[in-house]
Amino acid sequence: MREPETVRIAGTSVPVTRKRIRRVNLKVRADATIAVSAPYGYPLAKIQDFADEKSDWVEQRLARVATIRDREAGHWADGGSVSLLGTPLHVTHVTDAPTKRAQSVEREGEKLRIHLRADLEADERDAEARRLVEAWLKQQLAQILPDVFERLQDRCAIHCSGWRIRRMKTRWGSCNTKTRMITINAQLVEYPIECLESVVVHELCHLLEPSHNARFHRLLDAYYPRNREARRILNATPPRR
Ligand SMILES: [Zn+2]
Repeated sequence: MREPETVRIAGTSVPVTRKRIRRVNLKVRADATIAVSAPYGYPLAKIQDFADEKSDWVEQRLARVATIRDREAGHWADGGSVSLLGTPLHVTHVTDAPTKRAQSVEREGEKLRIHLRADLEADERDAEARRLVEAWLKQQLAQILPDVFERLQDRCAIHCSGWRIRRMKTRWGSCNTKTRMITINAQLVEYPIECLESVVVHELCHLLEPSHNARFHRLLDAYYPRNREARRILNATPPRR
C-alpha cells in the first residue's frame, strides 16, 4: 500500500486529500485540526511550498481556535471552572440523577456540583452540563438584576419600562428608546459586578442620549465613574458564541 501523502504544517504532518479541485486548499477547523486538499497530479513539493507561505496564517488561526476552545471547554466540564460575578466556582460532575428532570446544579461555597444522569455518553454529559450551568447562571442573574436596576435607576434618576435577559453574541446590552426596554446579555453574570452595573448604566443613559456622543460619555462618567475600567475588561473578553 502506498504511504499517504503528507505535508508539514505548524510542526505536525497533515495528510493531503486529492480532489477534483483547481487549487490547493488549506483550512484550520474549529477542533484545531488542519485540512489540506489539492488537485490530482499537483506536485507534493508545491503543496508544501503553499503550506510554508501560509504558516503565519495557520499559527494565528490555531491560536484563535485554541482560545475559544479553552474558554468553552473549561467552563462546564468536570474539573472546569465557572465564574459567577468574577468569583470562580469549581465544577464537578456527579452522575447520580435518576432521570433527566432530576438533573440539577448545586452550589456549596466555591463548589458547583452538577448532578447528571449516569447513562450519558461523555459528550452528551458535557452538553447537558453546559445546558444546566447556563440555565443556573441565568437564574442567578435574574435574582441579582432587580436590586441592581433599582439602585442604579435611583442613582441616575432615569427609569426604564423593564428589562430582560438574553444570550447575545455581539453585544453586552441594548436599549429600545421607544419602549424604554433594556436587554442585558446573560453572560454578564460571569464578570465582576462592575461590568454588569456599567452596562446597565450605559443603557439607562441611552434613554437620555441615544447616540454615543460627548454628552453621552459625560453622563456615563458622572453616573458610573468606573465604566471605563469595566469596559476594558469586557472588551478584552468578548461574548462567547
Ligand atoms: Zn450604547
